[in-house]
Amino acid sequence: MSFLSLGLSEPLLRAVTERKYSVPTPVQAAAIPAVLRGRDVWASAQTGSGKTAAFALPILQLLAAGPRERGRFARALILAPTRELAAQIGESFRLYARHLPSPSKTLVVYGGVSINPQMMALGGGADVLVATPGRLLDLIDHNAVSLSALQVLVLDEADRLLDLGFTDELARIIALLPARRQNLFFSATFPPAVQQLAENLLRDPVRIDVPAEPATAPDIVQRAIEVDPPRRTQLLRHLIEENQWTRVLVFVATKYATEHVAEKLRKAGIAATALHGELSQGARMQALADFKASKVRVLLATDLAARGLDVVDLPVVVNFDLPRSAVDYTHRIGRTGRAGASGVAVNFVSAGTHAHFLLIEKRHGLDLPREQIGGFEPVETVETDVPPPTGGIKGRRKSKKDKLREAAGQPPTSGAQPAAAAPGKKFSWPRLR
Ligand code: AMP
Repeated sequence: MSFLSLGLSEPLLRAVTERKYSVPTPVQAAAIPAVLRGRDVWASAQTGSGKTAAFALPILQLLAAGPRERGRFARALILAPTRELAAQIGESFRLYARHLPSPSKTLVVYGGVSINPQMMALGGGADVLVATPGRLLDLIDHNAVSLSALQVLVLDEADRLLDLGFTDELARIIALLPARRQNLFFSATFPPAVQQLAENLLRDPVRIDVPAEPATAPDIVQRAIEVDPPRRTQLLRHLIEENQWTRVLVFVATKYATEHVAEKLRKAGIAATALHGELSQGARMQALADFKASKVRVLLATDLAARGLDVVDLPVVVNFDLPRSAVDYTHRIGRTGRAGASGVAVNFVSAGTHAHFLLIEKRHGLDLPREQIGGFEPVETVETDVPPPTGGIKGRRKSKKDKLREAAGQPPTSGAQPAAAAPGKKFSWPRLR
């Protein structure tokens, strides 16, 4: 299979060659011809599967074939969960469009920065508008853009859009779209709420399911290392030095931890920086640029900030704090092993988070051997009379709100840490299987 057989025009093929893509990834091979035929697409594709090009290339071709709109109209809308992902998608569109005979206007809009320049830029509309949902609605409320002539809608990382609580915003946006349009739906996972959104949105879609095949599945070695929480920073430092990791993305639970751990690593002579939602947009972009340019070796990030990051050649991801959910686990480790490269995902597991990690493993059918590193063997045990959890992923009693959200097909919202500290029986690293 080659790009030549997918029906793409010469200027787009030239851009693909420039990007050094030799063969289409499976999601590209399936989606590009379907989008060019005007079909809706329902794609379940892993992070790093090449899905951006799978929608961007055929959209550019479709738009190039039609007349430019005048006025405040957007012709294609790509909704993305975070600013970073939106910026990356916009960049991809610009790169793929560079040889098209008539220039196509791509704009990226997201919150956290002044709205005025975005309003100005939208004068005359946009061929491709990449947006986060909240800012898009603000712009619509300001009459800066109209979706009434939209031809193509893309929901990228739809599971994450819902995870982040954008359900109402999506409903408002979808209500503003013309009935006749093409819909492309991409998600790494399909929990019930995402499934339902896809069913409501799509008309007779071409279904593309890119399973975790060796050819496309991120080739990731997953490790679970037992360590007491207070020793994690030292262990991280040890692993970085011992393994000579050159570029490491480390997930922590809080904004404070990103700064705190980065500071400790810097004091130990390891170039590290933090990426979290309270940094200004400029600072976030700078942190990413420094990481990509290898000016910093370690990027400490929260889930939100790291969503959709595409750092080519990211060999190592460390879950310093475990993700809240099995879905987040997929997204996090998908940051490495992208586009066929191999990667390592390291999980720090403590007595307190052991049961939580077992549940994540269970959801993914994993059974990772527990490792201990010399000099960092855990000594902590947890006193508990709570039996090993068998139900919810978070290993804690569900709140009423969580039960309601579950009934609505949504993931629970609160309580990041598993409960394991009630007094009683001694905790002894139980296995669920
Ligand atoms: P995505 O899943 O869209 O975030 O893409 C992940 C990475 O794969 C990006 O760095 C793309 O530039 C790269 N990529 C996309 N398509 C191909 C391809 N056909 N061959 C090689 N790399 C690709």
